[in-house]
Amino acid sequence: MKSDLRPADQVDSQAELRLLRELTQRVGSNPLLAQASTGNTSLKLDGVLWIKASGRWMADAQQNEILIPLDLAEVHQCWQRDLDPAERFPGASLETAMHALLPHAVVLHVHCVNTIAWAVRSDARAHLQQRLEGLRWRWVPYVESGLPLALAIGNSLSAGDADVFVLGNHGLVIGAENCRAAEQLLSEVGRRLAISPRQAHPADYTVLAEASTGSLWDLPDDDTVHALATDPVSRAILAGGLLYPCQAIFSNSSAPTLFRSIACSDSPNQWASRYRSRPVLLIEGRGVLISRSMTSAECAMISGLAQVVQRIPASAPIRYLTDAEIANSSSAVAYRYRELANERIGGGAGVPALSAAASGKSLAS
Ligand SMILES: [Zn+2]
Repeated sequence: MKSDLRPADQVDSQAELRLLRELTQRVGSNPLLAQASTGNTSLKLDGVLWIKASGRWMADAQQNEILIPLDLAEVHQCWQRDLDPAERFPGASLETAMHALLPHAVVLHVHCVNTIAWAVRSDARAHLQQRLEGLRWRWVPYVESGLPLALAIGNSLSAGDADVFVLGNHGLVIGAENCRAAEQLLSEVGRRLAISPRQAHPADYTVLAEASTGSLWDLPDDDTVHALATDPVSRAILAGGLLYPCQAIFSNSSAPTLFRSIACSDSPNQWASRYRSRPVLLIEGRGVLISRSMTSAECAMISGLAQVVQRIPASAPIRYLTDAEIANSSSAVAYRYRELANERIGGGAGVPALSAAASGKSLAS
């Protein structure tokens, strides 16, 4: 870090950092924008890239120091040499290269459920063209997180400057000159991409309570996730494949069977032997049960999934992740942050730190 700042500059720097922490916490506390440790923010200030640490929850940005300072010039040297800065700087967000590459002082990356509901469609670009007209935006077809995503965004800038990037099968990136402008642009994009979630039949709590008694599964705290099983359109969408990489944290295989519903006529007595490895049981027409060992990070992901799927109409042509994309993203995401998988280090008042061994994979963050 540079140390030749004048006192007034130092005050300004501290103010900007404080604004970024406040913005990060606000964004991270909105489950429609970020789930668990997904998403990240950054600020370029006096040659330093302040970026969210990998595995940390944006919602904790004011209680804990979740931003780490990196020498921006060193980060640039990495990606110019095809070296992922996330390898050079242990602990930095997996998307550090993208944050460094973008010219904006403030960069926000969110897993906005409204954006994702568009970004999983094969006709996404045409719809976005209409909805984002007048904004400087780019469509970035799916590419894995880290250096590949940063380079794809860099290529998209060859056609001219842009501040909004919709990432296929992934999420949204916003760049701006300061925190206030970034938040305003995020809000504007959110307004334009907003979709009303489909209403689903309520869960059958009697059946779910009976089925869960003495079983490996329990009722979820979030009632909205039952839509994954009670809504026939959502069941059909889930049965087709994986929509985005975060879904893959629940599975080591590309098979979408984890998210396939179970017929209610199927005897609950056989579930333990048949579905033991499933963290989530979607009981057709009745509702959802979740594994008793499910972590709060996994619960947040399931809630986010329900929000996304309820925003995809039955007629939408869906572009599922390919087997190769799932395999690549899983290895990229898990490659060295495994130990941070579901931990919420000292964060979230009342939320206990969770066992790192609870999940074999971490969230892209
Ligand atoms: Zn992401």
